[in-house]
Amino acid sequence: MFTATKDKPLQTTTTGALPRPSWFTENLRGVPLSTGFARSAYREQHFDCLACHVVAQQKAGIDILVDGDTRLDDDVAGRSWVSYAYERIDGIGEPQVAVQPYAAMADKGPGDYIWEVIETRLTPEVQGPIGKAELQLDRAWKAVAPMTEKPVKVGSISAQVVSHMVNNKHYPDQRDLLLALSEAFNAEYHALADAGAPMVQIEEPSIHQSMQVPGQEVSADQYVEAFNIEVKGLREKTEVWCHTCWGSPGAQKMFPADASYEKALPYLDQLDVDVITLEGASNNGMDFEHYGSLISKDKKIAVGVISHRTLQIERPEEVADLIRKALKYIEPERLILSSDCGFGRQAASRMHAFYKMVSMVRGANMVRKELGLEEVYVPAADPALSMVPLAEG
Ligand SMILES: [Zn+2]
Repeated sequence: MFTATKDKPLQTTTTGALPRPSWFTENLRGVPLSTGFARSAYREQHFDCLACHVVAQQKAGIDILVDGDTRLDDDVAGRSWVSYAYERIDGIGEPQVAVQPYAAMADKGPGDYIWEVIETRLTPEVQGPIGKAELQLDRAWKAVAPMTEKPVKVGSISAQVVSHMVNNKHYPDQRDLLLALSEAFNAEYHALADAGAPMVQIEEPSIHQSMQVPGQEVSADQYVEAFNIEVKGLREKTEVWCHTCWGSPGAQKMFPADASYEKALPYLDQLDVDVITLEGASNNGMDFEHYGSLISKDKKIAVGVISHRTLQIERPEEVADLIRKALKYIEPERLILSSDCGFGRQAASRMHAFYKMVSMVRGANMVRKELGLEEVYVPAADPALSMVPLAEG
């Protein structure tokens, strides 16, 4: 159900991961988040980092805040996005060896950035039945929620991506593993919703990426079925977001520049979610027309209008142009503005991420004004607060 975005056009947010402050040197290294919160050094750095993320987003005028994936360790190229989950699920063993984890990386080899990323992934084995997960997403949300009156979106890697990142030695086939993981993750999301979180974001179905690589063991229909088990019952409690992108380890796109969502959209539309996030900045709105025609009207669409892959900050005018392009196909009431993916995972610096957020909100304000909508105050862009004298006129 819609909560934070109900009856609100052109809300702004980002995907979830934000760059870690350089002083955030503590890590969980496999222990539960609750254990980390009981260690004074970890607790102080985690909560101070959350406070920094909240202030940065409020200075930028962001409507829907994220927790920056603060619980994730400082691993190479965002490895912890994956390992945070598989280190905390019964039935999955210790990390073993680096193996080529996913067909999407099939065309990569020595000499490629992504190959070094694969070397660091140390894929664990599924050694027994998948049991309880201990993601503690509810605790992650409760840590940040008291810091702001704005809604905070907490996201997690999906069962689908985890199923690609482990070595299945237990289940007869990949689909059985996927279904078991989907049930385990569903319980974690329910704990988050039951804690009062206004939204949950699942990152992400494997539909669009797997369709780029022929010969997959699990079909698009089966991914839809499994995803709807993963989110079962959640929409009765909270606003459910499904994030999609074309990759983000170290800000890298894993697929060709012209990779299109078009074939995947009829499947993504069958997902039992309220909001689907889709890339738009990195491909200059290439698929906006398809988003408008192939996603049903009962869903909202969050499009990327700033890129996590480039260091050049988009000008507000560029952002506004991209929003106007999206509005040709998607009604303002259904359009949400976001980044293509997260800024963490050894990608942008804190300043890059911050000024991209500021630019997104300034660009959104240009379009809000044109549509007669209320503009959002951007403290970071307030001339009265400038420490440098402004030129006359
Ligand atoms: Zn992403």
